[in-house]
Amino acid sequence: MSEHSARDGSKADTTLRGAVAASGAPAGAIRLPAVHLVLSDAGCEPLIAAYGRVQTLEAARALLAELRAMLLAAREGGDTAVAVATAGAPDTSIPSLLAMLAARLEEQNTSPLRPVFNLTGTVLHTNLGRALLPDAAVQAVVDAMRWPMNLEWDIDTGKRGDRDNLIEELLLELTGAEAATIVNNNAAAVLLMLNTVALGKEVIVSRGELVEIGGAFRIPDVMTRAGAVLREVGATNRTHLKDYDEAAGPNTALMMKVHTSNYAITGFTKSIELEELAPLSKKHNIPLAVDLGSGTLVDLEQYGLPHETTVRETIEGGADLVTFSGDKLLGGPQCGIIVGRKDLIAQIKKNPLKRALRVGKLTLAALEPVLALYRAPDLLPERLTTLKLLTRPAADMRAQAQAILPQLQAALGAGYEVTDEAMFSQIGSGALPVDQLPSHGLVIRPAATGRVSNALGVLEQRLRALPLPVIGRVAQDALWLDLRCLQDYQQQRFIEQLGLLAA
Ligand SMILES: *Cc1c(COP(=O)(O)O)cnc(C)c1O
Repeated sequence: MSEHSARDGSKADTTLRGAVAASGAPAGAIRLPAVHLVLSDAGCEPLIAAYGRVQTLEAARALLAELRAMLLAAREGGDTAVAVATAGAPDTSIPSLLAMLAARLEEQNTSPLRPVFNLTGTVLHTNLGRALLPDAAVQAVVDAMRWPMNLEWDIDTGKRGDRDNLIEELLLELTGAEAATIVNNNAAAVLLMLNTVALGKEVIVSRGELVEIGGAFRIPDVMTRAGAVLREVGATNRTHLKDYDEAAGPNTALMMKVHTSNYAITGFTKSIELEELAPLSKKHNIPLAVDLGSGTLVDLEQYGLPHETTVRETIEGGADLVTFSGDKLLGGPQCGIIVGRKDLIAQIKKNPLKRALRVGKLTLAALEPVLALYRAPDLLPERLTTLKLLTRPAADMRAQAQAILPQLQAALGAGYEVTDEAMFSQIGSGALPVDQLPSHGLVIRPAATGRVSNALGVLEQRLRALPLPVIGRVAQDALWLDLRCLQDYQQQRFIEQLGLLAA
């Protein structure tokens, strides 16, 4: 990965205004070299080698055009004229133009999708891409990108196969379900399930479970788009079994429970557990679906984490269909998994929307080794990155914080005070919203003496401007850097770029 010199501010200013400011030459005639002279200069060779002749030529043309426009504007008066008059005309020598050209080409070839340090304390951070994948999955994805794969081809028979078969057996083993299918994400799983089972019919959902997940996923809206009719029952805080019973009728296609992922209703509440609802759905002969959201495959309590209902418990509790995400607690790639009754899954797979929502080979390549790790639950905290991060002891983070603190303090200087402190991480992505994990990290406060207005905002911006942006959390007049997600292989990079902060 390249260090983005155009952004880190440590190199010479290679912008147009910089050229104007740097020049000592007097304002005068507009003299710019012809573009072919810039391109044929020996100093341009590395740029042509790296970016190609076409792109380099276009960038050079654009640069010269902008410079010309700027100089013309300067001659005609206005702000630019004042700037040029005070700073002198831009340095339009070929070496100076090549430096500007190199900066421009590097900038336009920097991917907008970049690695960052997630020190927010939220392990499964949706905006930062959720689960990080274990090495086994990384290698599998690399292979799948470089080799043809038997994605839909049965090696034993030499006949056409079904891509779901690659992971179905593992999923059945891990969840106890009869059948499974996989789509692009859990929102797609819910949409596809509703569209298949309840098109033009009613779906009974408790008012306490009409969830909105971040990013405009609202159960009522998804229901409408899926062509199903929402039948709300109960009140926000209390829903009784008889509410479901009374709502069930000839036009009911599904009863559905939704995991209240990102909130908890407390106080005077009543919700119906799966175990109570399942017999009622059987009595009415209406299938029962559960959108688990995060949907873990193992009991997290064995790793010292709070309990989260597993997919197996949900199947055993009587759900006919269960939907969950691949990149939340499961710790795999983005995808949505539907497990459940064989006849219902068969219908879902036949829905033409399944073709539109299916996953690609990279997703399946990543998911299979992640699921396979669950066959060794005792080794999971070592092997599954998400679980490794969630179970990291606070003492680990404390040692790390104490090792980094002096270097961070030195880089920030006297304007800020850095301390290492206990804090709380959260799982994120709606898993266990009220449970917090004891963690440790670095807290930065503006020093009492050097009070700059908005010192925290400035600091937060400086950290974001680093080659690998550092993303923390501003709270209580401090910037909090939770070290839970700073893995060993990332720590050196973190320390290396601290020098740039000092600049
Ligand atoms: C996260 C979540 C979804 C959406 O899952 P994606 O994988 O983000 O599409 C749906 N329902 C619930 C309950 C969730 O927690």
